[in-house]
Amino acid sequence: MSTSVETKCIHEGWVPKNGEPREVPIYQSTTFKYDTSEDMGKLFDLEANGYFYTRLQNPTNDYVAAKISAMEGGVGAMLTSSGQAANFYAIFNICETGDHFLASSSIYGGTFNLFGVTMKKMGIECTFYDQNMSEEEIDKLFKPNTKVVFGETITNPTVNVYDIEKFAKIAHNHGVPLVIDNTFATPINCRPFEWGADIVTHSTTKYMDGHGTGVGGCIVDSGNFDWLAQAEKFPGLTAPDESYHGITYAEKFGKMGYIMKATAQLMRDFGSIQSPQNAFYLNLGLESLAVRVERHCSNAKKVAEYLKKQDKVAWIHYSDLEDDEYHDLAKKYLPKGSCGVLAFAVKGGRQKSIEFMDHLKLISIVTHVADAKTCLLHPASHTHRQMSDEQLLEAGVAPDLIRLSVGIEAAEDIIADIEQALAQI
Ligand SMILES: *Cc1c(COP(=O)(O)O)cnc(C)c1O
Repeated sequence: MSTSVETKCIHEGWVPKNGEPREVPIYQSTTFKYDTSEDMGKLFDLEANGYFYTRLQNPTNDYVAAKISAMEGGVGAMLTSSGQAANFYAIFNICETGDHFLASSSIYGGTFNLFGVTMKKMGIECTFYDQNMSEEEIDKLFKPNTKVVFGETITNPTVNVYDIEKFAKIAHNHGVPLVIDNTFATPINCRPFEWGADIVTHSTTKYMDGHGTGVGGCIVDSGNFDWLAQAEKFPGLTAPDESYHGITYAEKFGKMGYIMKATAQLMRDFGSIQSPQNAFYLNLGLESLAVRVERHCSNAKKVAEYLKKQDKVAWIHYSDLEDDEYHDLAKKYLPKGSCGVLAFAVKGGRQKSIEFMDHLKLISIVTHVADAKTCLLHPASHTHRQMSDEQLLEAGVAPDLIRLSVGIEAAEDIIADIEQALAQI
């Protein structure tokens, strides 16, 4: 229907027919009524399309998922209750007990813990790699039971840019898919499928929602990965599911096999659904995503350029700055801009960072990122406060790192607030 992502974020998904509501309706119903037992039986056999229980599927959620899928250029998508659920499902839909996978060590802390600690208890082992390693070094980390490679387009909180094409090639050489968490870039600034990624995840809580309103997640499948070509590696997708009348997902549903399995099996059993009401709010956020992301990026660039010139600033990391170590990757993958998040430090370590933050007036200290209101977080004082400086460095987070999420206010006002706070330390 529409071609550019700026139009898709407004018009894809719910397309009203004559006389129908302009906005996506909220199907605030747990269940759906059928006239005959036979009608409903076919749904349970996955022989007919339709809704029966909102834990598995709900029309509002499906319309919003379809919009995100269209924006990413995928064949199908599902909404989840959070970004954490999306990343868990994305991996667990491929890996079983006894399997192994690879993930970048600079990913979001919540995902790092999920992969390294919680999934380990399920018998799924994750090896973390440095995303600056060479192809040969990464190759050595693969084992016969390695089933997937994971990375983030722009890492949270260190804002490093991921070389999607390089890792897609490595993963495919080993016959496994590449999963990319595209939360910070959003499909407005980067569409990982165009660079060879197979599956994309989102914490929709961030820019997609955009207003700090609802926690949510999404998984999108490109439909490009051929599970059947590597059938012995992926029995969950290529062998009969006894818990679903012996259906083989990749055979029965073709390119939709991965999303169908995640819905019919994982959502059925774990139930981490997004509420239809939250999906409605998410859709409102998506409608303005393109204009907001553009503004987040232009504001962040101005703030980054300002910070770079300040004597009291020890360092700044923002890939849209020309001398940033990730600028070349940013030019390739994020030509329209990276995102509104940047990392920097004030001179004087933890104590000065705390003083600086306490003098801010417009900019708020919150455990959030990527919404309309400028906010910041100092991992050493907040999310990682139990850690010593040494432990922080091991986790790849500098003790003085401040994560600044630049909002969509007037850039002058954001800069003025930083200026008055810096003047007081
Ligand atoms: C926030 C975040 C998550 C986790 O998402 P929630 O919606 O908070 O569960 C995952 N990945 C990235 C990159 C994030 O920023």
